[in-house]
Amino acid sequence: MKDVGFIGWRGIVGSVLLERMIKEKDFNSINAIFFTTSQCGELIPFDIQNKCKILQDAYNIEILSSLDIIISCQGSKYTSKIYSKLRLIGWNGYWIDASSYLRSFTNSVIVLDPINLNFIKKKIDMGIKTFVGGNCTVSLMLMSLGGLFKDNLIEWLSVSTYQAASGAGSNFMKELLLQMKFISKISNFINNSTNILDIEKNISKNIIKNDFPKKYFSVPLAGSLIPWIDKKINNGQTKEEWKGQFETNKILNTKNIIPIDGTCVRIGTLRSHSQSFTIKLKQQLSLNNMKDIIQSHNKWVKVIPNDMSHTINNLTPAAVSGKLSIPIGRIKKLNIDKNCFSAFSVGDQLLWGAAEPLRRMLKLLLNY
Ligand code: NAP
Repeated sequence: MKDVGFIGWRGIVGSVLLERMIKEKDFNSINAIFFTTSQCGELIPFDIQNKCKILQDAYNIEILSSLDIIISCQGSKYTSKIYSKLRLIGWNGYWIDASSYLRSFTNSVIVLDPINLNFIKKKIDMGIKTFVGGNCTVSLMLMSLGGLFKDNLIEWLSVSTYQAASGAGSNFMKELLLQMKFISKISNFINNSTNILDIEKNISKNIIKNDFPKKYFSVPLAGSLIPWIDKKINNGQTKEEWKGQFETNKILNTKNIIPIDGTCVRIGTLRSHSQSFTIKLKQQLSLNNMKDIIQSHNKWVKVIPNDMSHTINNLTPAAVSGKLSIPIGRIKKLNIDKNCFSAFSVGDQLLWGAAEPLRRMLKLLLNY
């Protein structure tokens, strides 16, 4: 059995990864060793019948270098500290990562096997040892529009995202709930005779005050939104927006870059990211043809009929969270150009957008 180290299992992505691995009985075929950056020496708080019951130090290079495979869901800061140290001492194991740090390395592959399985296999055969999960919205976009990309039909793509608080990590998700709690206290006295605008004024006044919980987001997310995710880069994009074109083209291994751009927005949902696409096709397609191409690409994507009832019941974070399915709807031709379509997709960014490609990459390596 291979020794597989898990770092970052306590975070949101790591917890979902463990949940999925337990459900799929993946732990039966590995010897799992759990690491921590904050609770070294403590007992592992769950039972998966692994040999080592104690949390190991995630900075201990000697123990890490004894492993066959490392999966890190800890974040870029950790990967940037540890990955190169391990490679420099000659560690030749497989490194699987959820963070963005290694995605732009030339010797890394961004993994999303329903999209690029053959490319991943080719790279394993070539001796590549570093496999990284893609940005959550990029992976979810490719899972939903995979058929159009596969048939090389997309000339360019513009996207507006609606990203959940959990996309930023555990502490941000908790803060959104604290913000909601704060607001709900102010609105406690709602009854039939309440003037709703008085309550709104009270909330609006209070969410910009200093005692409103905003240590992580810096500003209110509950009752508001934040049209900025990640740091600024030089061309006016945020890093999150930059990833759209770079990562998509790296995953698809395109010869000619498919232009992709848009605006990434954090909204006050807990889990699951939504995206609104404007798609310029290279050729004219009927609506039905386009839907067939999208639907037939993989078993998780699900075309939702463009009517109110199907849309509001199936195409929302509330309908999707915790599920692997990727609904896509609101598919229509746009007035602005005969080859332009719009579509709207929702997906659980903790599943296909993060944990699931990593879990499947581990399985692939174990069975290879
Ligand atoms: P996270 O929830 O903040 O967890 C990361 C680590 O933070 C944990 O492993 C834990 O490490 C520590 N931590 C500190 N306070 C914590 C708390 N209150 N609850 C749980 N853990 C806490 O981060 P994440 O969202 O899982 O993201 C991990 C990596 O995946 C990041 O690089 C992120 O960019 C990437 N990613 C995230 C998503 C997403 O939707 N969240 C999607 C795709 C990729 P110790 O146990 O060692 O203390």
